[in-house]
Amino acid sequence: MPKLTDVLAPGGGIDAERLALVAATTPNLVLFLDEAGTIEWVNPSFEQQTGHLLADVRGRHPRDVLYGPDTDPETVARINRHLHRGDTFAEDILHYTRSGTPYWVHSYCVPIGREQGVAPGYIVIQNNISDRKHSERGLRIAASVFDRSHEAILITDQNNRILDVNPAFSRITGYSRDEVLGLNPAILSSGRHSKAYYQSMWRSIEKTDHWRGEIWNRRKNGEEFIEMLSISRVHLDEPGQHYFVAAFSDITALKNHARELDRAANYDDLTGLPNRQLLEERLRSACNHADRQGRRLSVCCLDLDGFKAVNNRLGHNAGDQVLRTLAERLTQTLRSGDTVARAGGDEFVLLLQSDDTSNVYHRLLSVIGEPIPVEGQSVTLTASLGITCYPEDTADAEGLIRHADQAMYSAKEKGRNQFHFFDADLDQHRQRRRQQLTELTRALENEEFELYFQPQIRLSDWSLAGFEALIRWRHPETGLLSPGEFLPYVENSHLEVPLGQWVLKEAIHQLNTWQEAGSDLTVSINITAQHLMDRSFADYLESYLHSHPELDPARVTLEVLESTALEDTRHANQVLTRCRDLGLQVALDDFGTGFSSLTYLRTLPIDLIKIDQSFVRNMLDSASDKAIVESVIFLAQRFDHPVLAEGVENGEQARLLAHMGCNQIQGYGIAPPIPAGDVLDWASRWHRQRQPVVDQDGLIEGEGI
Ligand code: C2E
Ligand code: MG
Ligand code: MG
Repeated sequence: MPKLTDVLAPGGGIDAERLALVAATTPNLVLFLDEAGTIEWVNPSFEQQTGHLLADVRGRHPRDVLYGPDTDPETVARINRHLHRGDTFAEDILHYTRSGTPYWVHSYCVPIGREQGVAPGYIVIQNNISDRKHSERGLRIAASVFDRSHEAILITDQNNRILDVNPAFSRITGYSRDEVLGLNPAILSSGRHSKAYYQSMWRSIEKTDHWRGEIWNRRKNGEEFIEMLSISRVHLDEPGQHYFVAAFSDITALKNHARELDRAANYDDLTGLPNRQLLEERLRSACNHADRQGRRLSVCCLDLDGFKAVNNRLGHNAGDQVLRTLAERLTQTLRSGDTVARAGGDEFVLLLQSDDTSNVYHRLLSVIGEPIPVEGQSVTLTASLGITCYPEDTADAEGLIRHADQAMYSAKEKGRNQFHFFDADLDQHRQRRRQQLTELTRALENEEFELYFQPQIRLSDWSLAGFEALIRWRHPETGLLSPGEFLPYVENSHLEVPLGQWVLKEAIHQLNTWQEAGSDLTVSINITAQHLMDRSFADYLESYLHSHPELDPARVTLEVLESTALEDTRHANQVLTRCRDLGLQVALDDFGTGFSSLTYLRTLPIDLIKIDQSFVRNMLDSASDKAIVESVIFLAQRFDHPVLAEGVENGEQARLLAHMGCNQIQGYGIAPPIPAGDVLDWASRWHRQRQPVVDQDGLIEGEGI
């Protein structure tokens, strides 16, 4: 420390004012402390940078002004020791501004005293080193990331020589840092990738400074591993200078796991065959391929016949063994481009890519039929095959499998151990039926059905015997539909009974309304045999009648159609007998068209026989039809049943029928079926007129024609 007098000496020295300006103008923070360590003076830089004004801090100790919560106590203790010993010292310490913001200073402190010719105390000169401290901190974090990262990090120079690697690199590759420094990362190469692969990688780095992808490499111990690698080119400030940072993680385990998942998702555990999902995928691409090449393919659903019995008899292990053997046989029977998949249980789906497959199915049936040795026994099985061919069948992959499955059920129905081709027309028919049924169900809910009524006339005195209720569908778009257009869909469906119940209820209700209006009409209601055989038919019929207690049940006739459903004559007899006990009449509709007419005539309790219109229609021209009508009338008379002829369209038919002894007629010759609202008017007009007028064409000119 120079003496002040030396510094200020004339000649080599400088004057005191100018020297004082050094302290006042330096950007450093300058403090003068007295002998006791309290602040005597601070320079303007100190005031500016810390916010503490000289006036406020004079006489105070720096520790009370500048220290804060994160000021390091050890540094403070060291400083105190230095001051105590009168040392010159330098320390980095964290101070706080007046507003409480921390900042780092490098603090240089010199004790001064009598030797320098001044009053004793200390000069403190400080640099703000916050920026340096921050970047040091950043570097420390970066270094710890490098050291502790689970990803391997590799830094190479412009010539791709390794500059540094982190511990994770050594852990993953087995190479220590010293072993690889200065080498090219190609030492890791597995040889699995083509030159072109690396070239495209470098092209990407060249273009975008970045590349990311999967790479097979080799560890020091020779083991291959797959890594997810990301390479970045980092440019330095000097133009044209750069280095590369590569980071990678070992994803071998992940890949293996993914492969296992893929196996589980796409293959069947038991047989190792593709499962349905993979089959669908292959089928989709096979269809595309077939489209492009103009070729065909077929899908075959194969279901073992009676496999359950094998399981039950020999146990599940034996069953599994049988399935495995069959899987092998099927695979061997097909060509290499074909697919055998297991769809579950004892069901397989085959995808055959060849054009002509007809022989294959015979071959398949025969290899399946060969005895299978299992647990010292021999099992012989058969299978049912359903096949559909693309592109004749235009469905998508899922649809093709479904169609093949449907065909397989047909093969089962036909008697098993055979194959059956899917019939697109039949399928369309089924689909149409399903659609129609949905629409019909909706129509029933929306009350779109109506009953029309067609008069039935007694030939003895031309009096009105009653009306037959005939259903119509007032379709919101197509208008009025006759039963021939929708009843076939209802037949044998779940809708048959509900719709039949609606007709019953509606007809009885209608009859009641007419009765209340003072009319004594009767109504015939058509009942399908299935409806009649419904377990609770008589019960709800009775409940409908009970809800109209004033109605005479004798005014209701049930028209039952001859049908196979009536073959359980004992049951039919019971139901009809009960209906008659309730007071209802029973008519046998369309007599002569079924197979068991005579049996029914003998066994069923019947009040009326209706001759089918097909016989009446041609009886004037066809001697045999006339003979049938005659015979039916004769038969009915022998059984003491009155007869009604349907489809009477003209007076000549009516006269002939009367002559033959027929009791009643119904037909367009009298009137077509008419809406319920017109019935009373029609009936009273008929009643007034009674006698029909025969016009010159031979038609009966009754009301309504
Ligand atoms: P069905 O019971 O034999 O009814 C007679 C059918 O012959 C009626 O046809 C009627 O309109 C028609 N018809 C009447 N006179 C003549 C004629 O002079 N010439 C010709 N060509 N046809 C005549 P619709 O109404 O189309 O009914 C057809 C069949 O549908 C009925 O035959 C019956 O089996 C069934 N059906 C109608 N309504 C119902 C119903 O409410 N329930 C059930 N289960 N079946 C019904
Ligand atoms: Mg009828
Ligand atoms: Mg009929």
